[in-house]
Amino acid sequence: MSFLTLTSLQKSFGPVQVVKDFNMSIEKGEFISFLGPSGCGKTTVLRMIAGFETPSGGAITIDGKSQQNLRPNQRNIGMVFQAYALFPNMNVAENVAFGLKVAGRPKAEIDARVKEMLGLIKLDHLADRYPYQMSGGQQQRVALARALAPKPQVLLLDEPLSALDAKIRVSLREEIRQIQQQLGITTVFVTHDQEEALSISDRIVVMNAGKADQIGKPADIYNRPATRFVAGFVGTLNLIEAKVVDPAANRISIGDQGVTLREPLGNAKAGDTVSLALRPEAGSIAPDAKGDTALTGEVVSSNFLGSVIRTRMKVGESIISFDMFNSPGLVPPTVGETVTLRFTAGDLLVIRD
Ligand code: ATP
Repeated sequence: MSFLTLTSLQKSFGPVQVVKDFNMSIEKGEFISFLGPSGCGKTTVLRMIAGFETPSGGAITIDGKSQQNLRPNQRNIGMVFQAYALFPNMNVAENVAFGLKVAGRPKAEIDARVKEMLGLIKLDHLADRYPYQMSGGQQQRVALARALAPKPQVLLLDEPLSALDAKIRVSLREEIRQIQQQLGITTVFVTHDQEEALSISDRIVVMNAGKADQIGKPADIYNRPATRFVAGFVGTLNLIEAKVVDPAANRISIGDQGVTLREPLGNAKAGDTVSLALRPEAGSIAPDAKGDTALTGEVVSSNFLGSVIRTRMKVGESIISFDMFNSPGLVPPTVGETVTLRFTAGDLLVIRD
């Protein structure tokens, strides 16, 4: 049986239903990210797990136990918020000790646990500091230690990195993942940042308007988006409109260029429009590029992004982006130039909704 289950979870604020029939089974020790745009209901689901919001319908269980009538402080959950939310009048050690003190644990146990937690977040040397004397990243590590100190069954992280600058965000997310694995704690992490979710999760739930559009491992979500929404939200996928030419032969056209897909076209009829997805990294315009499929188009822009050069070309009515890895001597295509992008037909995915 799964450790944390959310069954037909719903939440309405007045007439507005912000969480609609949300279902999810999370295994013990899993790191799950809820990924989605602002307002899709991620935080509301998290707050229902924590007990800060009462579901309008559905059920939440942790280790087989219904959470329905439990107040937040009766649930065995640790939470970290976007704003560091440390107690400003307490030093680091006192902040970390807070939950244990409230629970009435003996002083010797509290002292030992605080020491252990500060070791875990590598801030032993700052035990006497106050929040205002620390950086945002340090404060967020203290918030994590405070959430973990009472040994919660589940850790909830609500955009804990979004107030930090880019470099700290990357190092802290790796630290969070490492600590989570070390402790084996079941964790739900809310983010709107796809790179964050892809890099540290066991599984990702892509949320769209109060529902889970797709649940899967990072590579599956990235490589095989289930819906148009997921395809658009995760990665920098090209969405290409194509016309069905011969459905029995999987034959379509993009502009006036014919392509034979690997995937069957289902019930599509000749003349129908289908959406295809193509990753910018899938193809190459190098003269020796391999691939059984080619599209030729005119370059409309070419941008240096650091490790890659992203070029956009026009094929029929579609704009298709592709990436070239930066290397010394690479000459990027120029605007107006005609280029041929080669890739394998299997890279063109049919998006079905
Ligand atoms: P963000 O990343 O912006 O926090 P989110 O995906 O976490 O987005 P939620 O915070 O869960 O989204 O909000 C979902 C929707 O519910 C939003 O439209 C929000 O305005 C609305 N909402 C959230 N809390 C309340 C509330 N207490 N009363 C009324 N509406 C609310």
